[in-house]
Amino acid sequence: MRSESKDGRTVIVIGGGAAGLMAAGTAAQEGARVILLERNEKVGRKLGITGKGRCNVTSNSDPKRVIENVTKNGRFLYSAVNAFPPSAVMAFFEGLGVPLKTERGDRVFPVSDRAADIVNALRTFLRRGGAETVRARAESLIIENGKLRGVKTDRGEYRGDAVIVCTGGLGYPLTGSTGDGYALARQAGHTVEKPLASLVPLETAGEDAQRMQGFSLRNVGVRILDKKGKTVYEDFGELMFTHFGVTGPVILSASAHLRDFEKNRYRLIIDLKPALDEKKLDARILRDFEKYRNREFANALSDLEGRSMIPVLVERSGIDPEKRVNAVTKEERRRLVELFKGFELELTGPRPIEEAIVTSGGVSVRQVDPKTMESKLLPGLYFAGEVLDVDAYTGGFNLQIAWSTGRAAGRAAAEGKEKPMKHINVAIDGPSGAGKSTVAKLVSRELGIVYVDTGAMYRCVGLHTIRAGLEADDAEGIEKLLPGLKIGMEYVDGTQRMFINGEDVTDLIRTPEVTRYASAVSAIPAVRAFLLDTQRNLARENSVIMDGRDIGTVVLPGAEVKIFLTASPEVRAQRRLLDFQAKSIDITFEEVLRDIKARDLADSTREIAPLKPAEDSVIVDCSYMTLDESVAAVKGIILKKL
Ligand code: C5P
Repeated sequence: MRSESKDGRTVIVIGGGAAGLMAAGTAAQEGARVILLERNEKVGRKLGITGKGRCNVTSNSDPKRVIENVTKNGRFLYSAVNAFPPSAVMAFFEGLGVPLKTERGDRVFPVSDRAADIVNALRTFLRRGGAETVRARAESLIIENGKLRGVKTDRGEYRGDAVIVCTGGLGYPLTGSTGDGYALARQAGHTVEKPLASLVPLETAGEDAQRMQGFSLRNVGVRILDKKGKTVYEDFGELMFTHFGVTGPVILSASAHLRDFEKNRYRLIIDLKPALDEKKLDARILRDFEKYRNREFANALSDLEGRSMIPVLVERSGIDPEKRVNAVTKEERRRLVELFKGFELELTGPRPIEEAIVTSGGVSVRQVDPKTMESKLLPGLYFAGEVLDVDAYTGGFNLQIAWSTGRAAGRAAAEGKEKPMKHINVAIDGPSGAGKSTVAKLVSRELGIVYVDTGAMYRCVGLHTIRAGLEADDAEGIEKLLPGLKIGMEYVDGTQRMFINGEDVTDLIRTPEVTRYASAVSAIPAVRAFLLDTQRNLARENSVIMDGRDIGTVVLPGAEVKIFLTASPEVRAQRRLLDFQAKSIDITFEEVLRDIKARDLADSTREIAPLKPAEDSVIVDCSYMTLDESVAAVKGIILKKL
């Protein structure tokens, strides 16, 4: 039963798949108010079709074996799987009224063979905890002043204390897995490893697979060789031929090992009779030939192999199909034995990622706490299930990962002992037009820290001066204006809006005239002193990324990260020119370049707070970097500090 949340925490879970349902139900059980956002009409759609509609709930194994079956980042899962191992998962579902059975390969299924029973049990689990399901598609995280506040969806905003992202991978888009979660993770500054199809059917060369389509082989040996003839995968199991190639459990498992189709050519070697060595197989063939001694060769193989495969085998053996079996020579028999022990197909590549049961890649586990699944970058943000960069072989292991990580995230999110993010101040200084504000804005959005544009404050003083009819060098007059000037800043959708005595002047301060005034008034000591307190207070109360000219040297000498972003005057002039052109401001390249050089000179030679790199700053010259590269460089420097 749902116990009332002590501190009324609200947990928002994005995605109603295996991990999301487990996370939502668990958080609700722990007393949180839970909102589960699912873009499909129904939750658990992919769960309902897994295991051919039977749902391979887990693997009846101990945690150690689960980890051994994880192909990527197994160690990361150690804590979560130990806290909620297969035995606990089985008890959980049986406790919800779904009896389970263990089949071959320790695969666990509902006794009913109905995946729907698992989905229904999870629905009951959610209902009991009082979790609410809302049909909506998450579009972005709401991050205000560096704090996670909720989720923006196509149906409005949902506010909460914690957000658990359980959006799955890229496989099976029809069930709603479209990788939306990767964008949310990136927004918070997470690295997303390139999603690749893992556990995916494979395509083969030639027509043979197609000729045998629909035919399954059970208990065959499978070996996959790379172009050098090295064995890259070997196992026994079941496979099936399809119109494009091969699929089935053993093929899906193998696919996780074939990551390099671009450079490699892989060969699939199927041992059709793994229980018999060559001698025994030859004896067995002889026995069958004896039994069918008066038939033609093509009709004497029916005890050895399924009907669909025989035409292909006969053709590949090179033996005349009409030949009487008793006339088949020893040499021909040897070829036949070889064929049965090593039926070969050339693999040409994986099926498209949409057909992958599991995708590898996803949110890098380096930035996630393995005990709680909480983001190390943005407190209150959690990840669970396939959206993480972990994946495992078939056999119930992937669902086990979803249960374990969902459980861990649900618990931690409800409990809400998020580690507060380290308070961090980032100073970005540099000359006009280097791209400081553009880069800082993007980095601030990605890392969820406040962006403070100090140039805009000087621009406000500049505009105020113009409006008062004063000259830009009238230091005394301007100083007298300051007590009557209240500069306000507000953050709307992550952008900084500027106010002069309550009037929104955000757009008015971007003209060339205001720019000139800003530069001039910024050399007046009283103006600098006037703005300094505001700037320092902002940085004390928030983690900020603050850009300007003297942030690292004067305003925040103790900033944890100092970056000096620069570029050649010509490159900066070109960039500024494009800005002006976009705003239809009529100005030539030469004029912009002249202005830039004049401002550089004024900013760096003035007596007070001249523009110069702080001694402990990292200098980033972005003359030859794209915007993305500049953002990545700056983000990298900050993350290293975090
Ligand atoms: O960065 P932005 O071009 O908007 O800044 C306008 C002017 O304000 C700059 O030319 C510079 O002279 C001044 N400024 C300053 N110290 C800062 C930020 C801006 O002197 N921290």
